[in-house]
Amino acid sequence: MIQHPGNVFVVSAPSGAGKSTLAQRLVASVPDLVFSISFTTRKPRPGEVDGRDYFFIDEARFDAMVAEGGFVEWVQVYGHRYGTGRDWLQQTLATGRDVLLDIETTGARNLREAIPDARMIFILPPSAASLEQRLRSRGKDSDEQIAIRLKHARHELEQYPAYDYLVLNDDLELSYRHFESIILAARARRERMTPVAEGVLQGF
Ligand code: ADP
Ligand code: 5GP
Repeated sequence: MIQHPGNVFVVSAPSGAGKSTLAQRLVASVPDLVFSISFTTRKPRPGEVDGRDYFFIDEARFDAMVAEGGFVEWVQVYGHRYGTGRDWLQQTLATGRDVLLDIETTGARNLREAIPDARMIFILPPSAASLEQRLRSRGKDSDEQIAIRLKHARHELEQYPAYDYLVLNDDLELSYRHFESIILAARARRERMTPVAEGVLQGF
């Protein structure tokens, strides 16, 4: 089990629901919230940067990390492997910062075993049709990849009962406000704010 003073937020959604859009905006605007960069054997999409979007590694290196216990969780989806690196997560949480992980539902379930108080957020697309349209408008996947992702979407959506919070990503601004509120409300919890309150109290 990973000990940590910071909050851990897990966000999952069927591919194309808008998770990256919401998550990138969140880490850009909320201080002391860092995005967990996963390892993957997938090739970078146009515009993706190694060490920013993912650590892009080959199958042999992934195998070696699995053998060393270097992942908190890892999965194989869409023909590629994805994993959350243990060292980085442990080190970042030890600094007291909050971490946001963008991982799919199987990995999220496994992560909860390592971090039972992780807060789990699920992003819902408004409908099947809008999900397909978003995948197409993103323009980053082939027709074949889009078909695979849509087929997988139903399975992903069925996992929503395992999550603590559901955000319907219809109107982007409103969805973002819901998403950000979850993070800010978690930070305002008494347990987390007690040292601050004690500091204020001591000044009186
Ligand atoms: P995910 O990370 O869940 O796979 P993305 O964030 O890449 O999804 O979003 C998929 C596409 O849908 C992108 O082109 C994005 O700009 C668009 N999108 C995201 N949220 C909304 C929204 N609320 N309304 C309309 N389009 C959206
Ligand atoms: P994409 O190829 O679109 O970047 O990601 C495909 C799926 O893999 C997404 O649902 C994403 O959340 C998930 N994913 C990315 N990194 C990880 C990870 O480290 N672990 C798990 N379990 N899923 C991940």
